[in-house]
Amino acid sequence: MTSAMKTLAITELLGDGIGSELRESVHAVAKRLPLEIAFEPVDLSLESRRRDASAAYDAVVTSLARTKLGLKYPTVTAEESPNAVLRSRLGLSVIHRPVHSIPGVASIFKEQLALDIVRVAVGGTYDDPGQRIGNDVAVSLRIIERRPCTEAARFAFRFARAHGLSVTSSSKHTIQRATDGFFEAIVREVAAEFPDVPHRVELFDALLAKICLRPRDFSVVLTLNEYGDFLSDMACGLIGSMGLGASGNYSFAKSGEIDVALFDPAGGTAPDIAGRGVCNPTAALLAFALLLEHAGHAVYAVALREALLDSIATGKTTRDVGGSLGTVDFTARVCDALSRRIA
Ligand code: ATP
Repeated sequence: MTSAMKTLAITELLGDGIGSELRESVHAVAKRLPLEIAFEPVDLSLESRRRDASAAYDAVVTSLARTKLGLKYPTVTAEESPNAVLRSRLGLSVIHRPVHSIPGVASIFKEQLALDIVRVAVGGTYDDPGQRIGNDVAVSLRIIERRPCTEAARFAFRFARAHGLSVTSSSKHTIQRATDGFFEAIVREVAAEFPDVPHRVELFDALLAKICLRPRDFSVVLTLNEYGDFLSDMACGLIGSMGLGASGNYSFAKSGEIDVALFDPAGGTAPDIAGRGVCNPTAALLAFALLLEHAGHAVYAVALREALLDSIATGKTTRDVGGSLGTVDFTARVCDALSRRIA
């Protein structure tokens, strides 16, 4: 390692349950990379939040203002949802959720899936709790704003361009003309900036069927908040795994460039197995791979993903996916596979 190498500073948001075991796994992998990485831990555990929640969240915001790069471990949702607080404190407006088939993980779906779901992470029907009107009626407000839609669309088209993929935007614009129609109009404006990236529009109900029937036709899928939520879970179900994925969450500067990028594994805190050395670190390591790619180290990101997939495909994995290894032994296999790949 050269002294001229730029240190990669990463804010680590420590959580609860299996979080500390996932972190050990990430650190073991990080040590195998020819990079100088400085982890800046911030305690976001329930204990720390109960002691002084605003101090805990302030510390996250302060550290991320400097590093612009974060890795979050699972946190318990008790008084508040840390993910919701972070989304609002950091202005995270776009979620990127890759859902790719994992050879070796059992699924009743026989096709290969390789979706990159890009979702507007704010608004839709999710930001208004709604209200009851008398006994027989309830209403809620559906909010679609230009700024996050533009940010999500630009992210999707840039990602598609960088990886030679197409973009499918999806909504119910023929029925929800004002709201979804507005979204699709914004997507069309952004699409015009990327004439080299193929773009098509699908109605969301039809999209679900088409993904099940011909998954290879779809790669980057761009949606509003609630559709992205539904689609992510359906896609995870198809590949046989709710807990093996990871997401990137992004906020944007006024210039339109990404400001803060926060990566997290899909699974929860798994209190039933915490501290027993058996948790599967795959999702946390996939989150770390997404982070590496975002930080300009795509080569190491690809190597880490392949090292993980190889280890899972050979069946030498943790118990939840049919193997017999503990977290430390599985991590060691991934580390060795990674070292071989980047040698
Ligand atoms: P939370 O409230 O944080 O969501 P939970 O236990 O309700 O916690 P998950 O953490 O998603 O929800 O756990 C659901 C099940 O999946 C549990 O049986 C847990 O042990 C298992 N599980 C979750 N994450 C992992 C993991 N990384 N490795 C192995 N098993 C896991």
